[in-house]
Amino acid sequence: MTTDFHCHLYEPIFDADRDEVIARAKAVGVTRFCCDASKESDWTLIEKLYKRYGAETIRPGFGIHPWFADAALPGWQERLVEKLNQYPDAVVAEIGVDWIRRTHDPFDVQTKTFLEQMEIARDLNRSVTIHCVRAWDKMPALFNEFGKFSPEITLHSFSGSILDAQWFLSRYNAFFSFGVEIQSGKRESLMQTYKFLLDNAPTSIRFESDSPYMPLIKGTRNEPSNIISYI
Ligand SMILES: [Zn+2]
Repeated sequence: MTTDFHCHLYEPIFDADRDEVIARAKAVGVTRFCCDASKESDWTLIEKLYKRYGAETIRPGFGIHPWFADAALPGWQERLVEKLNQYPDAVVAEIGVDWIRRTHDPFDVQTKTFLEQMEIARDLNRSVTIHCVRAWDKMPALFNEFGKFSPEITLHSFSGSILDAQWFLSRYNAFFSFGVEIQSGKRESLMQTYKFLLDNAPTSIRFESDSPYMPLIKGTRNEPSNIISYI
């Protein structure tokens, strides 16, 4: 029995055969799916999945992804709190910072949106799933400014160094989620971090598909059953 710690099963690309996708995953032992939002309009889609498949199958994640931070509509903070209160087992996800997208979305909007969501998560004692791309060097300063946080922090598609991993492990209830990249083993630095965690903090390792994204074969639709090939 395993959990897909980060996916987007609510995406319309699964509308025609979502039952089959879930059945295929369950047949190979992937029984729970953390469905993390990218933008506010995803929240109702995630709710629908939660109602259809139940709490044992779907863990909802409500939040705003850094790519969509600048498009968030006024009042999203209140609506996020409301949604989290409605679903006590929901986490705050997918939130974070993405330095690659800095030209489309000024980094300070991302930072502000990220920190506001961290604060909401702390207030409601909710776990978070963090997206961080090319911004690992910014994280310590951001977190130092933010202060204490005791719920779980899952760093999705973790791409940080061993030092980054150690920094999180020594301060937070941190988990590191790995996806398809560990199957190819091509990124040497990533494999070093993965091996370090396997040797030193194996219980902090999690796996994810990021379905429908990050397919094993380029141009295809990814689905949660595929995580079996690299866990
Ligand atoms: Zn994702």
